[in-house]
Amino acid sequence: MKRIKQLEPHIANQIAAGEVIDRPAAVVKELLENSLDAEAKKIAIRVEQGGVKLIRVQDDGHGIHVDDLSLALSRHATSKIKQFSDLYAVESLGFRGEALASIASISRVQLTTKLADAEHAWQIESEGSSVFTTAKPAAHPSGTTIEVRDLFYNTPARRKFLRSEKTEYSHLETVFLRLMLSRFDVAFSLENNAKLVYQLPVAQTQAESEQRVAKLLGVKFLDSALYLTTEASGLQLSGWLSLPTHSRSQADSQFFYINGRYVRDKVISHAIKQAYQDVLFHGRHPVYVLYLQIDSGLVDVNVHPSKSEVRFTESRLVHDFIYRAVQQLLSQTTPATVLATTESGSTPLATQPSNSAADATSPIFPPPQQHPMPLQVQQTLAGYQVAFAETDTEAVTAAGFEQPSVADTEVPILGYALAQLKGIYILAENQQGLVIVDMHAAHERINYEKLKTTYSDETLKRQSLLVPVAVNFSQREVRIILQHQALLAELGLEVEALGEQQIVVRAVPLLLAASSVAALLEDVLADLIEFGQSNRVREHVNELLATMACHGSIRANRRLTLAEMNALLRDIERTLRSNQCNHGRPTWRQLKLGELDQLFLRGR
Ligand code: ADP
Ligand code: MG
Repeated sequence: MKRIKQLEPHIANQIAAGEVIDRPAAVVKELLENSLDAEAKKIAIRVEQGGVKLIRVQDDGHGIHVDDLSLALSRHATSKIKQFSDLYAVESLGFRGEALASIASISRVQLTTKLADAEHAWQIESEGSSVFTTAKPAAHPSGTTIEVRDLFYNTPARRKFLRSEKTEYSHLETVFLRLMLSRFDVAFSLENNAKLVYQLPVAQTQAESEQRVAKLLGVKFLDSALYLTTEASGLQLSGWLSLPTHSRSQADSQFFYINGRYVRDKVISHAIKQAYQDVLFHGRHPVYVLYLQIDSGLVDVNVHPSKSEVRFTESRLVHDFIYRAVQQLLSQTTPATVLATTESGSTPLATQPSNSAADATSPIFPPPQQHPMPLQVQQTLAGYQVAFAETDTEAVTAAGFEQPSVADTEVPILGYALAQLKGIYILAENQQGLVIVDMHAAHERINYEKLKTTYSDETLKRQSLLVPVAVNFSQREVRIILQHQALLAELGLEVEALGEQQIVVRAVPLLLAASSVAALLEDVLADLIEFGQSNRVREHVNELLATMACHGSIRANRRLTLAEMNALLRDIERTLRSNQCNHGRPTWRQLKLGELDQLFLRGR
């Protein structure tokens, strides 16, 4: 029979190491966090061979007392908490006191450290397990340097799981990136195989912070990002989010910090995803770098040894706060906000100093003086009515289109229509140059926002059909439609069974009166099937409305008059989220005069 024996400490350490130190990137994370906890203002990292051969982190933090040196490398030894209750309000990144011990048990470690007021530095070395040298004097500026060599040299089973040097380096760089985005008040540098990869000075101003973000995540992200800062119920959120039209195919560029700690959390990612849902193309992912400040007593970080998971005591509150903040910011993606940001100089073209001057004085393109549009209000309305094919006249009148008067020097943001291209695009001229509008995409968003507003106000207004339309379905489909009869009625679709395999539609939403009833019902049915046959359908009302909006929208190849086009432009300007269609595709693009000039090698 096998008897029970206490494990040797160094074996216990090696086992524990498996939880936290699975690859070089994890060593980098622990060492950098220690440096930040030591209040370092400058941290330099050097790695060789993807971190397997060497990871060396030097900081200018407060250092370690010589008498604590061997403790620092022992398990459950920490200077950061004293009692269990401290765990309820951890402000430091580390607190478990096991990282250094774990690292030391599976590598060769050299630790050199100097307190600010000490005469000289001290150094100890350890080689796997528990073999410490006694501390000896050394030369080192105030702060600490830890060198970790030959990771996993004594644990071949773990070494087997290491990937190629390139892969390990890329994991390590990801960790480094997360930390560099977490503290703008600390200078970082990274050297890989004797090559300097990053050198980031301290960023004090907003502009300097944005320079760092641009360096780490690309200028393209920053140029198409919105800056958010908001505060409510003791929570504070700030940071950068990508415009819906600049999404990625992977969720690989999302950084979220709680009180300075990088975390991945389901509550948070769900809130952000939901906020983007309405404006993002299916299966695309936003890019963001967001910082949440929250009372440290309201969040538990001691959920997992890697400390990148959290638990909130008030997760609903946190969820709703983040959802609302992001959703509200994204609702402002309209022509007005985009053109305003571009003008402040964030796009490369606008930053060319000669640009705006050239725009105004270029001899061939005179200052964009708008031809007076010979449009009367009545005409605009008439045009719009055609576009919507006798639907929703009331709403149109109430919205009241302004007539562009001759004396009016204020050109609307999207300008005035010039022509239609291939039955797909509207070309318009505005202050900056040429505007190209995808008319179906734009109209789809406009309809969708209108449907949403009306739906949340009351039941959608419906219009009874003079001749009810009968549509054929399978028995199962008829059953599903009838199951949701009440919800469909709220959406303005009045349906009844007409035999086992036929549905008759008696009324449709006023806004969609012109669309094909059969096609509309078929698409709605497809959604009902996808969202399941339960009450869950109600959670997807917006998606149903989006599907319906598509049907009421101008189809390609539909000839529009200038009046109709102008009416559409004005509608885009005043519709929330109008920069992208329901699927997240852009609805319009600006081609500035400067960009056109470049195409023709004009000027400069
Ligand atoms: P933890 O960070 O959870 O406390 P670690 O094993 O990572 O545990 O570190 C053990 C202790 O060593 C820390 O509590 C800290 O006192 C000290 N220490 C580690 N690295 C540094 C550093 N770079 N500067 C100053 N002190 C350090
Ligand atoms: Mg630590």
